[in-house]
Amino acid sequence: VARPTTLIDAWAERVDAHPDGVAIAYFDTALTAREVDARADALAAGLQDRGVGAGDRVGIHLQNIPQYALAMLALWKIGAAAVVLNPMYFGRELRLPVEDSGAIGVIATDRDVPAIREAVVGTEVGWILSTSERDLQSRDDPRMFTDGDRAPASADGDLVELMTRFAGRAPAQVEVVPDDLALLTYTSGTTGPPKGAMNSHANVVAVARSFADFVDVAPGDVVLAIAPLFHITGAVINATLGLIMDTTLVFAGRFRPEIVLDAFREHGVTFTIGSITAYNALMRLDEAGPEHFAAVKTLYSGGAPIPPSTVDRFAERFGHYIHNGYGMTETTSGVIAVPPGRRAPVDPASGTLSIGVPLPGIAAEVVGPDDRPVPPGDQGELVLAGPQIVSGYWRNEEATASTMPGGRLHTGDVAVMDADGWVYLVDRLKDQINSSGYKVWPREVEDALYEHDAVFEAAVIGLADEYRGEKVVAFVSLKAGCTATSDELAAFAGERLAAYKRPAEVHVVGELPKTQTGKIRRRELRDAHTP
Ligand code: ATP
Ligand code: MG
Repeated sequence: VARPTTLIDAWAERVDAHPDGVAIAYFDTALTAREVDARADALAAGLQDRGVGAGDRVGIHLQNIPQYALAMLALWKIGAAAVVLNPMYFGRELRLPVEDSGAIGVIATDRDVPAIREAVVGTEVGWILSTSERDLQSRDDPRMFTDGDRAPASADGDLVELMTRFAGRAPAQVEVVPDDLALLTYTSGTTGPPKGAMNSHANVVAVARSFADFVDVAPGDVVLAIAPLFHITGAVINATLGLIMDTTLVFAGRFRPEIVLDAFREHGVTFTIGSITAYNALMRLDEAGPEHFAAVKTLYSGGAPIPPSTVDRFAERFGHYIHNGYGMTETTSGVIAVPPGRRAPVDPASGTLSIGVPLPGIAAEVVGPDDRPVPPGDQGELVLAGPQIVSGYWRNEEATASTMPGGRLHTGDVAVMDADGWVYLVDRLKDQINSSGYKVWPREVEDALYEHDAVFEAAVIGLADEYRGEKVVAFVSLKAGCTATSDELAAFAGERLAAYKRPAEVHVVGELPKTQTGKIRRRELRDAHTP
């Protein structure tokens, strides 16, 4: 990992090296690096004119469209930070990060402006700038969107209009240093209320470059933004990596499997990292075949456990192995991953796939309750340090002090590292079930259920039980066209697990509650079933 640098410098290096290479592609629109830079400059000047200054935070509430990248670049050029907001969030869910971050403005899709305005009343948001999924698209592509026409002009300005008005202008020079805030990303809220992770310029560049080196992303590669940009993986290993390396970054709008599948073929995508849910959605398409993935060099999945059977099915059908990658909002995304071309070893004890080896620059330890490293092969909490790790949570010194004392991030994940440095994730510390004094990791029970042919997704939680303290309860959704009864699934899992780990109840449900980034919300299931 090289010396710390800012995103502006990393981007400028790329523009200077190959100004005429296509930097962004979106359906049939292609923008060269020079064109992207000119638009970002104009937008930066326009935002300064609106009063955005160094250190300010501005929310981005957009799907994966080119304006997202332009907005991030523009904000970085003037020393401001992007608060990446989930575009599916409105009301209370949206208000939390907007209020907490103190964002002074929001960039959003035109049709969402009225709902956003309602959600941010009383916060520091002074304006909402709107854009449409059609802007920056030269031809009306019928596949692009489904939501009809522009909403009434209730915004305080239009992003493309602002960019056009300031065309040819550059922002007034602002000093930006590597430690400045580039992104304010909120954690997924899987284990508690979301917290704002302060990803600095240096953090983002460190991850984008180290991941690109590790995967061997080369000039001319085509990177697909398959992960939503409001999530750290989308913002950093899809978007930023695609921008600052000499590659083409492909946008395909809001995730629709048929469109994403087309994008793979049309643009000759060579690299992407998405959630296992996204890969599952592609596998559900009958028309999907190896020809769609002909240009692919390496695929990664991150953010959630991946069942080995999914990886096998994908490889069999499309000829590509999905590499596992591990990261957190606090690590600015991927910091442990399976090296390209390698197969993740499977832990003989639990049957789980390794999440890989630490990337260059990352110091990974597995520690016991005394915070000292345990011997290889033993379980403990995963603790990480390195230039990819954030310095803290936004306006939350208490959480910063308890989670990352002395710059060592306590991940809250239980892991095992073998003698060769492969890391296996056992489960989340907070999700451990205590059944009659026996410790049960939900993940192990879920993996037993995944071995059943009819099981699509499984989530296991502990619920209060008078006799055992906690009982193991499983929720299962089935693959399309498959049937299985609760009793059959309970018996199936029971045959594969020690008595105390066997689910006391199995519930077959239509769908499991999930975050947009593909994480199953065990906490929501627990809350829903706790009287
Ligand atoms: P919160 O911190 O608010 O509870 P969260 O931890 O789910 O939410 P993220 O930062 O999006 O928010 O997710 C990081 C977590 O995702 C990791 O701590 C880990 O538990 C899980 N994770 C990431 N990658 C993988 C992977 N490859 N396999 C299994 N779990 C993973
Ligand atoms: Mg977390």
